[in-house]
Amino acid sequence: KGTIEFRNVSFAYDPARPILKNVSFEVPAGRTVAIVGPSGAGKSTISRLLFRFYDIQGGEILVDGQNIASVEQESLRREIGMVPQDTVLFNDTIAYNIRYGRTDASEEDVRRAAELAQIGPFIERLPDGYRTMVGERGLKLSGGEKQRVAIARTILKAPPILMLDEATSALDTQTEQEIQAALDLVSRGRTTLVIAHRLSTVISADEIIVLKDGEIAERGTHGELLASNGLYASMWQRQREATE
Ligand code: ADP
Ligand code: MG
Ligand code: MG
Repeated sequence: KGTIEFRNVSFAYDPARPILKNVSFEVPAGRTVAIVGPSGAGKSTISRLLFRFYDIQGGEILVDGQNIASVEQESLRREIGMVPQDTVLFNDTIAYNIRYGRTDASEEDVRRAAELAQIGPFIERLPDGYRTMVGERGLKLSGGEKQRVAIARTILKAPPILMLDEATSALDTQTEQEIQAALDLVSRGRTTLVIAHRLSTVISADEIIVLKDGEIAERGTHGELLASNGLYASMWQRQREATE
């Protein structure tokens, strides 16, 4: 349980402009595969297709060996936990937001998930604790706090597959490191497909796929890709220079 397979997947939002061209990759159970590449390459489209938000025009997507064309979206959402770049919370309590998708969870379960996501101490300082309203007419959480709520929700849901799409890209460096540590904890032993901008977060992935203009330009481990001195190596070099 917990495998993803893209087989020669082709997709276009607009028939005149192909976005993914013959993309094939596999995420074996418990492994981590990273997709990197320039903005607009089609990375987020891959995550949307995995949730069946659109029908593909060629190829197949399999989850646990089953073609998702015949799988209900609801069941894909149970199977795959998603942490996007900007988590949008419901205008409801913090507890409601953490418990979303797992309404059967006890208060103790919610508390434990929040502690693991390191949001617990923050919540306990609030007069209404987990019953605090968030969103438009309630408490405005920071970007990092919203990501922690999303992580707590994912911990509670305990899906076999984790899909991270630029989950730390909108955060400042310090917060990014904290959220990354929480994500590493959640993804341990879990099938993980991670879309990332900062390459330092994907070094330990079992495979890194470099997507460019909807095609796989390069693939391999971090070490292999650096050694081959191509697009990945130049992206790595550029990011290192930017942080020095
Ligand atoms: P990435 O995540 O790699 O930055 P995306 O997968 O989000 O890229 O987008 C790939 C391309 O598809 C982009 O050029 C984007 O503008 C385009 N695109 C995304 N969503 C739509 C849509 N709903 N309709 C038309 N084009 C879209
Ligand atoms: Mg992007
Ligand atoms: Mg994207």
